[in-house]
Amino acid sequence: MIDRTTERTPGFATLAIHAGAQPDPTTGARATPIYQTTSYVFEDVDHAASLFGLQTFGNIYTRVGNPTTAVLEERVAALEGGTAGLATASGHAAQVVAFHCLMQPGDEFVASRKLYGGSINQFNHAFKNFGWNVNWADPDDMSSFEKAITPKTKAIFTESIANPGGVVCDIEAMSLLAKKAHVPLIVDNTLATPYLWTPIEQGADIVIHSLTKFLGGHGNSIGGMVVDAGTFDWSRDDRYPMLSKPRPEYHGIVMHETFGNFAFAVACRALALRDIGPALSPFNSFLILTGIETLPLRIRRHCDNALAVAQWLSGHKKIAWVSYPGLPGDRYHKLARKYVPKGAGSVFTFGLKGGYDAGIKLVSNVKLFSHLANIGDTRSLIIHPASTTHRQLTDEQKVASGAGPDVVRLSIGIEDKDDIIADLEQALA
Ligand SMILES: *Cc1c(COP(=O)(O)O)cnc(C)c1O
Repeated sequence: MIDRTTERTPGFATLAIHAGAQPDPTTGARATPIYQTTSYVFEDVDHAASLFGLQTFGNIYTRVGNPTTAVLEERVAALEGGTAGLATASGHAAQVVAFHCLMQPGDEFVASRKLYGGSINQFNHAFKNFGWNVNWADPDDMSSFEKAITPKTKAIFTESIANPGGVVCDIEAMSLLAKKAHVPLIVDNTLATPYLWTPIEQGADIVIHSLTKFLGGHGNSIGGMVVDAGTFDWSRDDRYPMLSKPRPEYHGIVMHETFGNFAFAVACRALALRDIGPALSPFNSFLILTGIETLPLRIRRHCDNALAVAQWLSGHKKIAWVSYPGLPGDRYHKLARKYVPKGAGSVFTFGLKGGYDAGIKLVSNVKLFSHLANIGDTRSLIIHPASTTHRQLTDEQKVASGAGPDVVRLSIGIEDKDDIIADLEQALA
C-alpha cells in the first residue's frame, strides 16, 4: 500500500485504513474479502514442496496462514513499527505462542505483578504445567526486576498500561534491564494501543495484543497478535534453540539465519501456531480489520470521555480515590505525560468508600453501563474485579494486582459523556 515512488511515510490514520490491504486482484473488491477457506490449491508438486519447506511464502492451510488474516498481521505490525505480525485466536493464545518459541521446560521469565488477572492465572498455572516458571516483580521498583533475573531467565514481560489499575510502566528503564540481561522485553500493549504508545520505540522486542479489546473495538470478536520488532539477536548464545539451532522438522533450517529480522514471527507461525493450533478465524480477522480503520477516532474519543469521567468521580463524596494516569495528581501522571501524551486510555479503577458491598451495589444499579468482563468496547463497561475477574486470586494477590475489595474498574465507551456520567450519578445515589 505504501507508494514506493514517493518518499512520504504514511501517517498513523492512513496506515490504520490501508496498511497490508489492496484491492482484491481477481474481483477488484475494495474491502479485504473474507477468505473463508481451510486450504489452498498448489500450483504443482514442486510448489507444494517449497511451501512446506519454508522456501516459498504462500498459503497452505488456514491454521498456519490465511489471506484475510495476513492483511491484519501486516496492518498491526505497521502500526506498532514491527517487522511482522502473527495473529492468534485470542490474546492468551498470543502469549502461549510467543513463550513457546522462547522457553524450554525449566526456564524462567520475569513478569510485572501488575497484569490483567487472566495473565496472572495463565502464568501461575498453565505455564507452570509446561515447566515455564514465572518470577514476579514490582513495576514501581525496577530493582525488583533486576533481582528476579537468573541465568535461566528467557524474557521480561509487562503491560505498557496495566489492566486494571492504570499503572504506567517505565518501558525505557525496563528495556535497559532486558538489554543488560540479553533477554527480550515483551510488552502487552492492549490497553494503550499503538495509537497512544508504540513500545518498540523504547526498546520492546516483542509486542503482544489482545485484539479483542480496542483494536477490534466493538466487543464482537476474540483475537490476539504477536508483533516481532526485529530487534533481538537470537544467535548471540545458545539460549534460544528454537531460533538459533537447526530445526529437524524443516530439514535443518535455522530460523534466525534464514529469516533475519522477522525470524521470531516466522517461528511463531511455523513452530508454535502449526503445532499448537490457535489460529484466528478469517471472519474475526475481517471484523477486527474493520475496527482498526477507526482506531484513531475511537481512541481519541475514549480518552476524552475517560478523562471527563475520572475528573467527575474525583469530586464525588462516595469515592475514596481514582486511579487514572491522565489526572494531574495521579502517581503515574509523569510517566503518562512522557509515554502517552495523547491520552491515558479509557480503562481505569476507582475505590468506593463503602468497600466490597458498595462495589456489588454499584454494578447492580447501572443502566447504560454493561456489567461484564471485557474492556475496549464502544460501550461503557463496568466490573467489580474482586468478585469476578480476580476472584481466583488470594486476597494478597488481589491487592497486589490492583483489584482490592473496594475497587471498581471502568472501560469508558464512546457514548455522550454526559450520559455516561449521569448513569454513574444515579447508580451511586
Ligand atoms: C483481555 C486481555 C488479555 C487476554 O486476551 P484475550 O483476547 O481475552 O485472550 C491479555 N492482556 C490484557 C491486557 C487484556 O486486557
